[in-house]
Amino acid sequence: MLAHGHDLLVRALREELARARDAGRGGGGVPEAESIVRGAALRVEALQRPALRRVFNLTGTVLHTNLGRAPLPEEAIAAMATAARHPVALELDLATGGRGERDELVRGLLCELTGAPACTVVNNNAAAVLLLIHALARRREVVVSRGELVEIGGSFRIPDIVRESGAKLVEVGTTNRTHARDYEQALGPRTALLLRVHASNYSIEGFTAAVPDAELARIAHAQGVPFVVDLGSGSLVDLSRWGLPREPTPRDALEAGADLVTFSGDKLLGGPQAGFLAGRADLLERIRKDPLRRALRTGKLTLAALDAVLRLYRDPERLAQRLATLRLLTRPRDAIEAAARRCAPGLETALSGWPLRLALEEMASQIGSGSRPIDRLPSFGIVLRPQGRRTGVLQELAARLRALPVPVLGSVRAGALRLDLRCLGENEEAAFLAQLGALAGGPPS
Ligand SMILES: *Cc1c(COP(=O)(O)O)cnc(C)c1O
Repeated sequence: MLAHGHDLLVRALREELARARDAGRGGGGVPEAESIVRGAALRVEALQRPALRRVFNLTGTVLHTNLGRAPLPEEAIAAMATAARHPVALELDLATGGRGERDELVRGLLCELTGAPACTVVNNNAAAVLLLIHALARRREVVVSRGELVEIGGSFRIPDIVRESGAKLVEVGTTNRTHARDYEQALGPRTALLLRVHASNYSIEGFTAAVPDAELARIAHAQGVPFVVDLGSGSLVDLSRWGLPREPTPRDALEAGADLVTFSGDKLLGGPQAGFLAGRADLLERIRKDPLRRALRTGKLTLAALDAVLRLYRDPERLAQRLATLRLLTRPRDAIEAAARRCAPGLETALSGWPLRLALEEMASQIGSGSRPIDRLPSFGIVLRPQGRRTGVLQELAARLRALPVPVLGSVRAGALRLDLRCLGENEEAAFLAQLGALAGGPPS
């Protein structure tokens, strides 16, 4: 235990002794010295554990914001390691020896992949929207449809962002229907931007009407107002070629007439947390000069990973093998079923003391992170249901799964605990199964 250092060891022993004394006063008797040492060892281990824990994501949501969204491809991980270990030419032009801009590192690739004349990158998409409005619409008006005043998880709300950026929100239309004339009537001398927000995490069905991008661009341009689109996920390629739902790409929006688009780096794009702005050079020049930009800039590790991820998009043929996110999203249902069948016996053995029934069932994974919740991916997994009426046993099992060395996250709903095997890699199955022994013996009765 000296491997952990003197101070930590003393702290753990003191805490464990205090616990033993309290237990003694409560009439629990004096514990053996050995059990105190064992308790202290567990405390040292807990204190040394990294705060950011690796977990198994069996929730069925691939891009899970609470679990860190996109897993990175190996190329990006290697690039981050290099940037972490060595000095790098982050803001240095190696050709001239003069000062460079960190943005330059990914600007070229981004422009190439989006077709935009100019691009920049900031900390995340929320920052991109904030910066965009701050730079282009402060003390003026931003026109948005009432059907697009969205809240994304973690309290990103369009009305709040517009206000915090120093602009005034002008709502037009209704929740389900917004027409061209609604926009036309709202545009005036104080209008700075016409903003469209992609309906990423919800859908409006039934009696609906929205104005297509091309027409919104025409309405905005007739008044000399820029038309900007927050795409949310903004995949760089048409995902329908892999049988996935089609998301509007930055290129689509720009070709339809958008002057500027923003999108996330760690959603469908499959990279690290980042936010992109792509579009007209004169607008990006104003954004570049905004003092907020310095506060929202990306770090070198992010830029290293982004460069590596964007490079993969130059070869769309191999993207589904090389981009980790896309590999998970396109994993065939049959391969997931095979994984579930391989893992079920081990889980059944570990849970033999639990009042649970195990079943193998079809599932429907979600893309997650603001992708349309109605689009589902056929998947497969293991379902655990309580025998008899002990429904509390599911919460107990969920807690025990979260307490494993590599915590396992499933989803408890409709009287069952579900483990969707889509995101458990074949090379991770052994590690997943090896730790299940800790569940043996069943729940506390
Ligand atoms: C996800 C999302 C955001 C926020 O993006 P982050 O990268 O998480 O900051 C903003 N707008 C829309 C439409 C989104 O879907």
